[in-house]
Amino acid sequence: MGPSVWKPVVLMLALVVFFNIFYNLFSTQGTTQEYSISYSRFRAELAADNIKSVTVKGSNVRGTFRNKTNVVEKVQGKEVTRQASAFTTVLPSVTDPTLMPELASKKVDVTAVSTETSSFASVVIYILPWLLIIGIWWLMMRGVKGQGPGTMMGGFARSGARMYVSGERINVTFDDVAGMENSKQELKEMVDYLKNPKLFQDIGGKVPKGILLVGPPGTGKTLLARAVAGEAGVAFFSISASQFIEMFVGVGASRVRDLFSNAKKAAPSIIFIDELDAVGRSRGAGFGGGHDEREQTLNQLLSEMDGFDPHEEVIVIAATNRPDVLDPALLRPGRFDRHVVIDRPDLRDREQILKVHARKVRLDPQVDLSIIARGTPGMTGADLENLINEGAIQAARRNWKTVTMDDLERAKDKILMGGERKLVMSEHEKRITAYHEAGHTLVAKLLPGTDPVHKVTIVPHGMALGLTQQLPEDDRYHYPKTYLTNRLCVALGGRVAERLVFDDLSTGAQSDLKVVTQLAEKMVCQWGMSEKIGAVIYSRGEEHPFLGRKLAEEKSFSEQMAWLIDQEIAAIIREAELKAEELVSANIKKLEVLADALLEAESLDGHQVDQLLGSVQ
Ligand code: ADP
Ligand code: ZN
Repeated sequence: MGPSVWKPVVLMLALVVFFNIFYNLFSTQGTTQEYSISYSRFRAELAADNIKSVTVKGSNVRGTFRNKTNVVEKVQGKEVTRQASAFTTVLPSVTDPTLMPELASKKVDVTAVSTETSSFASVVIYILPWLLIIGIWWLMMRGVKGQGPGTMMGGFARSGARMYVSGERINVTFDDVAGMENSKQELKEMVDYLKNPKLFQDIGGKVPKGILLVGPPGTGKTLLARAVAGEAGVAFFSISASQFIEMFVGVGASRVRDLFSNAKKAAPSIIFIDELDAVGRSRGAGFGGGHDEREQTLNQLLSEMDGFDPHEEVIVIAATNRPDVLDPALLRPGRFDRHVVIDRPDLRDREQILKVHARKVRLDPQVDLSIIARGTPGMTGADLENLINEGAIQAARRNWKTVTMDDLERAKDKILMGGERKLVMSEHEKRITAYHEAGHTLVAKLLPGTDPVHKVTIVPHGMALGLTQQLPEDDRYHYPKTYLTNRLCVALGGRVAERLVFDDLSTGAQSDLKVVTQLAEKMVCQWGMSEKIGAVIYSRGEEHPFLGRKLAEEKSFSEQMAWLIDQEIAAIIREAELKAEELVSANIKKLEVLADALLEAESLDGHQVDQLLGSVQ
């Protein structure tokens, strides 16, 4: 709950306090101090003709004495005598028939007041509970709204609309987007159109209304869409498609309606829908609850896109990393018919992106960003931004004024391998880890065509006890079969070395085995790299993009084939293990040198590894 939620509560408390003060002010006449006395004392004073006036209200009596009179008051347990000129008392519930005649005979001024409270006070008392109830109801509604429109009230369907009622003005331009020249080129056309729609219409050109940006997360799809809006100077409406999907049917569709009507009002404008696959999955393919909702939302989206007037200058840009699961209806002409593929940045783009983000920190003049770019294949723009940021944190931690190459290297290691972990290992465990990592490194060095070893360490990082880090020299787009089998050998090298040296196996190789199994399975089932299975794709459960795990899926092949696939996977792995074992046992001397050096220095870089291996003949 936000702070604004407490407003009505505070307001109500203030009201109560205010009324109290007000009521008290009016009900106590004057400032004369009244002292409470007993009824008998009152009768005694009356008998002594010391009562001047009384006001009777029900059984409560307040009055004034003719002369100041001593009364006893209890203050903190002690009795104190006071000079009183006014008093209060209570009539006994047994009616005293002698009271009225006596009052009359003593010429006391008697006023009777109705027992009903004043109309003002009664209004307050009457209204207060209602105020409270309404306040609490309002509070609950606020709470519900925050969690999504889980109410029966149709009006709350709009609750999410606030996120995009006003289109943003963006000050990001293409200059802020490093690299991605091809994608930028394709989007320039949109910018020209949005800047000068008249020109396009005069020529009769047809401008696509829907553009789909396809690429892995963090590659700058959102950034690019914003840059288009910024370049063209138009309003930018953005929403993540997962925000459309709510628990209650119909909410998503009404949000889509709102979004489009707002964008049309603000035209020329850009609507950006992130994670389009969240609503745009093939209809009928929904799982669990809420797939009706998704279909309704999707239908609404489709009909909004079809309903565009040719003169409405609204462009819809959507982003997804799963174009394969999108409903074909979304990709038809007139809808998202233009696709812009955004890949992970290559070496040159990575350097550009690093430069863009390095503007925000103070870099040491010695820093060469091209080296960092070379060491970060596969990283996305978001990762690289994170790397610079992490480097700045490292520098700040050490009170350095500038971010040095060392900081950036550390940041890179942290992102690639997880942070260093303090862990006390026994000497024996350390030895096992050293031989294990030396095994990986040795196999990687001995096999041709593997990625160069960048770093090997027995300092625990993240979940791993030690690490051998290989980095490709350049970005790879194709993986030949020999490269993949070599990778299997390298991954198994650790386990093989352990077995050769200690004649035993440890649990340290678990993550290696996972990598090996997954890779071998892909080689057989997806890349057709097994002779016996052939060039067919067998889906063994697709990894679900949201759950991050495999869903049970109907098998489209026979039990025999499943058995054969298992055999082939096992055979590939066994073959790789044999090869690794041959290599390691033939070079046991080199293994020992590497392991000893690791035990001594804990970490070795690629250069040191080369030197060590060169020294052994
Ligand atoms: P996506 O939408 O593809 O998941 P984002 O656009 O949200 O990715 O990118 C996340 C962050 O990564 C951006 O805020 C930006 O700072 C950074 N980034 C990604 N690509 C680039 C790039 N080409 N140039 C500069 N920064 C980038
Ligand atoms: Zn290992």
